Amino acid sequence: ASGYSLLRDPHHNKGLAFNEKERDAHYLRGLLPPAIISQELQEKKLMHSLRQYDLPLHKYMAIMELEERNERLFYKLLIDNVEELLPVVYTPTVGEACQKYGSIFRRPQGLYISLKEKGKILEVLRNWPQRTIQVIVVTDGERILGLGDLGCQGMGIPVGKLALYTALGGVRPSGCLPITIDVGTNNEQLLNDEFYIGLKQKRVTGKEYYDFLHEFMTAVKQNYGEKVLIQFEDFANHNAFELLARYGTTHLVFNDDIQGTASVVLAGLVASLKLLGGTLADHRFLFFGAGEAGTGIAELIAIEMSKQSKIPLEETRKMIWLVDSKGLIVNSRKESLQHFKKPWAHEHVPVHNLLDAVKAIKPTALIGTSGVGKTFTKEVVEAIASFNQKPLIMALSNPTSQSECTAEEAYTWTEGRAIFASGSPFNPVEFNGKRFVPGQANNAYIFPGLGFGLVISGAIRVHDDMLLAASEALAGQVRDEHCDKGMIYPPFSNIRKISAHIAANVAAKAYELGLATRLPRPADLVKYAESCMYTPSYRSYR
Ligand code: NAP
Ligand code: MN
Repeated sequence: ASGYSLLRDPHHNKGLAFNEKERDAHYLRGLLPPAIISQELQEKKLMHSLRQYDLPLHKYMAIMELEERNERLFYKLLIDNVEELLPVVYTPTVGEACQKYGSIFRRPQGLYISLKEKGKILEVLRNWPQRTIQVIVVTDGERILGLGDLGCQGMGIPVGKLALYTALGGVRPSGCLPITIDVGTNNEQLLNDEFYIGLKQKRVTGKEYYDFLHEFMTAVKQNYGEKVLIQFEDFANHNAFELLARYGTTHLVFNDDIQGTASVVLAGLVASLKLLGGTLADHRFLFFGAGEAGTGIAELIAIEMSKQSKIPLEETRKMIWLVDSKGLIVNSRKESLQHFKKPWAHEHVPVHNLLDAVKAIKPTALIGTSGVGKTFTKEVVEAIASFNQKPLIMALSNPTSQSECTAEEAYTWTEGRAIFASGSPFNPVEFNGKRFVPGQANNAYIFPGLGFGLVISGAIRVHDDMLLAASEALAGQVRDEHCDKGMIYPPFSNIRKISAHIAANVAAKAYELGLATRLPRPADLVKYAESCMYTPSYRSYR
């Protein structure tokens, strides 16, 4: 290959880091200025220039441009500066990027599969340059974060999630495939936008939708085999539960909003017991929002509680209450409820709003999964603080604008007594001379390690016990020093090590359940996971 094309190939480009010998051997003489600059120095320079931008969106554009120019340098930056860059490539900035995807769009990333490709999805998959794929993240853009239907512009999410699969989990970039399925959008603003990049039609639903998704799922298995992980991301709940149920027994599928979120929240709850004492069964949980995240978390808590306390699942579910847009989910509503809410319809008089539900249920833990910001009002937070010494408050909705309350509000309104975590990051808060560090209860802790564990064991199905295994491994990484600061999650700066432990625990479970195909089982799975992780240092070319 010519030196010119080498410089334009993001998988191989090293920019000024090519040494004299490489410049001679690969026809690079004259195409680069004479200086040789190491990867470390390139990183230093780029971080410096990234910090010059005031607007997060400009940082996002700059770093995505780097991904297209020099992949290894992109990942080196992301890995070495994870706490600083996670909010740029992921929530909250990725949300803004999706909203403005049409105008910041330069070069396509990932694979777009629209209704125009009906009947030809297998051919479309074959247009992708990589043959061996390990992880697919796919969205249909209908419920992007808490921002609603962003149609084809949802592509920012699979692209961002897969960047984290590599940076946080260690899956090699060439094994990752972001996909957006475009079946239309019901977002009027996008339909009327002359620069909209997607299909300008209303979403197809029902049989037409499911037939199209079936063609997709079949084509994926045919093209990549049984061991490719398909992560469903940001589908609306009316399809999310159905797709998981349909393909859970035939494909290696995982819904991050339902299952990943559940695993990460359970880990935080288990870690919080170090601060609160007692067991899960000593708690009463109230969820605000009864969709994918809310019911997914609720079910995993109930399963874990049941395992720990030997109380039947039907009984542990009764310690968990959920509120949706119509109020508390109670028995008298059962007939009209969507099926995923039915297990949560308990005996109670109707309650129509969150404040009254908090007063009626007297939860020890309040978990926000509604996608609606500013709903944990002063009254709500004061109410839960009035009957708990240390109320547990999780504001999980993303991005920051949709967070149920801020960290500062949670600490102030509870006089510093709350144990608080949120889906999008908040800075530490000073209150009454004390410094509180809010945890980030985000599935980014779980999915990279979980997915990596599935990949390295060659797993062919996802099992609930693997979600529990991932959760247990994450909770096990929370140390006393974190708890002392009020944190119920470990810092993201250790995420590669955390992911290796999660991957190992998940892989161990896959072997135990007979779902692993990579044989023989490595003896030390943590060491094995670490040895399989992608590292972004430049390779030398001879
Ligand atoms: P979803 O399936 O659409 O569920 C939303 C739920 O909130 C529904 O039950 C809905 O009620 C309820 N709701 C909406 N508006 C409400 C209101 N004004 N009052 C009371 N309830 C209301 O969405 P999801 O997938 O669960 O996601 C919800 C949020 O969680 C999003 O912001 C997402 O970004 C966030 N999330 C965070 C993480 C994380 O890692 N931190 C992971 C996944 C999701 P109805 O059922 O009555 O419509
Ligand atoms: Mn999501």
